Amino acid sequence: GSAIAVSDPDIFAAIHEEGLRQRNNIELIASENFTSRAVQEAQGGLLTNKYAEGYPGRRWYGGCENVDVVEQIAIDRLKELFGADHANVQPHSGSQANTAVYFSVLKPGDKILTMDLAHGGHLTHGHKANFSGKFYEVTHYGVSEEDERIDYDALEKVAEELKPALITTGASAYPREIDFERMGQIAKKVGAYLFVDMAHIAGLVAAGVHNNPVPHADFVTSTTHKSLRGPRGGVILCKEEHAKKIDSTVFPGIQGGPLMHVIAAKAICFGEALQPEFKAYSAQVVKNAQAMAGRLSELGYRIVSGGTDNHLMLVDLRPNGIDGSIASTALDEAGITVNKNSIPFDTAGPFKPSGIRIGTPAVTTRGMKEDDAVKVADFIHAAIENRENEAKLEEIRNEVYAFNRAFPLPR
Ligand code: PLP
Repeated sequence: GSAIAVSDPDIFAAIHEEGLRQRNNIELIASENFTSRAVQEAQGGLLTNKYAEGYPGRRWYGGCENVDVVEQIAIDRLKELFGADHANVQPHSGSQANTAVYFSVLKPGDKILTMDLAHGGHLTHGHKANFSGKFYEVTHYGVSEEDERIDYDALEKVAEELKPALITTGASAYPREIDFERMGQIAKKVGAYLFVDMAHIAGLVAAGVHNNPVPHADFVTSTTHKSLRGPRGGVILCKEEHAKKIDSTVFPGIQGGPLMHVIAAKAICFGEALQPEFKAYSAQVVKNAQAMAGRLSELGYRIVSGGTDNHLMLVDLRPNGIDGSIASTALDEAGITVNKNSIPFDTAGPFKPSGIRIGTPAVTTRGMKEDDAVKVADFIHAAIENRENEAKLEEIRNEVYAFNRAFPLPR
């Protein structure tokens, strides 16, 4: 029995409903995944009771002998997974990890060159509503209008003129492989630090399905909850020369006590990602995304940049005469979860952007293969076609639920 059911029926009921939603719906949010029961157990467990300011062997509190073991295992596994000199597993989130990187080597007013949010970057990459856009002098780069891919030659020219202190790369909505070696060459040439935020693609990198930024970057951050399939949280990898500065910026610089229950869940996630099955999983994530993008193209949808190299795609809905908000609402009605998203050179505002973002990490965890991805694309098309027909949307939802039942959540 559940302790929550007894002590707090309101919260229990909401969690129960969320469990049904997660089981029934087709989950296509590119930044989400389904964690193993082991990850959930660690994150929901008794380590939440422990304070452990500091680092393994160097704590401010007594009684840290067991959590020291946990954090050291997390650090060692993470370094092994990505071939890094140094790892910090304490950031509470991806945004906290990015904050620590900026604070470790930049002064307010320094120049940074980063990917535009509207072209796939993240808020923490210098958006004006975020601290990163307020503290630093930000210049953005983006994708080219012709092929909707990063134009490295143009970026290099801007970097040479600007001479930024730091270049940020990595994205929330970029469907193509990023050339980290080239980014490293550009940064080196202009005397900038290279900071790679691999939050979205970390699982693909861990599995060798995407090139690894670690050899080319001064700093690499990630979330642990997206393609890497761990608990919600962040991590930082860096070269040995930056290790002390990164650790002291995380604590005591911007955080207090680490979340030891989350760090235990991170360690379990890294252990899972080191297994051979994770390579096969990540390769399937990409195959599924390509199959889905291919089918959507056949059905007449415009896929930004013409396809995908990774776990996600962007669909430009302007040719269909609708926006991303209308599409995502219809898909919700049909039991399919996506998010509306701006597309590069979008002419519409952020609340009614022209596209949707679709990702395959979660459905691949449930066991879907290419044929299933094609079927999901057909469901998406049916829902968008019938967006004004409530009865039909309900019929599609029932089909979606029945289809999805064949793909169990991880145990
Ligand atoms: N960096 C990128 C590229 C992301 O996509 C995200 C999450 O959306 C983050 C950082 C921030 O992570 P968090 O939501 O854990 O702060």
